[in-house]
Amino acid sequence: MEIIPVDAHITAIDHNLLGIPGIGVTYVVRGDTVALIETGTSLTVPHTLAGLEQLGIRPEEVEHILCTHIHMDHAGGAGYLAAALPRAHVYINSSVSKHLVDPSKLLPSVRRAVGEEAWPLHGDIKPIPAERLLPAENLRLDLGRDVVLEAIATPGHSPDHLSYRDHKSGGLFIGDAAGLAMDRWHLALPVTPVPTYDLEAHRATIARIRSYHFPRIYITHYGPHDDVDYELNRAQEKLEELVALVDAAIADGDPDVNALAARWLPYPDDSPGALVARCWSQMSVAGLIRYETKRRQSL
Ligand SMILES: [Zn+2]
Repeated sequence: MEIIPVDAHITAIDHNLLGIPGIGVTYVVRGDTVALIETGTSLTVPHTLAGLEQLGIRPEEVEHILCTHIHMDHAGGAGYLAAALPRAHVYINSSVSKHLVDPSKLLPSVRRAVGEEAWPLHGDIKPIPAERLLPAENLRLDLGRDVVLEAIATPGHSPDHLSYRDHKSGGLFIGDAAGLAMDRWHLALPVTPVPTYDLEAHRATIARIRSYHFPRIYITHYGPHDDVDYELNRAQEKLEELVALVDAAIADGDPDVNALAARWLPYPDDSPGALVARCWSQMSVAGLIRYETKRRQSL
């Protein structure tokens, strides 16, 4: 676990996602009350709780847990966090909140999406009592001391994806809405996963985020970035590169997911980031192949 100072009212806790530092954070936003943004998985929750303790935040002070979307590394830890933080409500798009009350349908789908190698690193989900869940899609949350968080719909990576604008800094908690940028491992990619990835929505979301001219984005994977245009351009370029690769492979017939992923995101195998590079690029290639195949069938 590692504490990363971000802004006067924002701190990031590196919760060792997938067992590797530099991959995932939970953001801590402080006004008169405390909100967490992103939960990590059930396996990262002990690190997040240790981070809160190190920051001197008592469990009762945390009143809000905001998830950008239903994927395991963003909402998987919500149940365990809610159990440890007795006054907190969990906010997520109401279209998917049923999966946090009863995860029995979500978990097999996640297993198929992330693959057998990464699946054990994603933990489980502790069901959340329905009364502790609140809809996030129209959220405007006043934490006091001029700290206001507001939801913005940013679909594409997943249909339920929301980002949260922080009015005090002007920045955006962007989740996986554009691209990821794990600078410690020299890894930057958009993630386009099965089963619900939507390319057109993703392109529109990147354009919409661009139009706001945010001074800063707080990326879940990983950390605050002030070079917003650079990051958005990089995500868009890498996305279009993947689209071209997948298009050509489909035209040739029988696209090979692993080979395409290795071409799209070549990465040294002896780096600790290799697992992330391999799993997330394979997931992206598979998601885009599925999207393009379905799109072609519907023409
Ligand atoms: Zn995701």
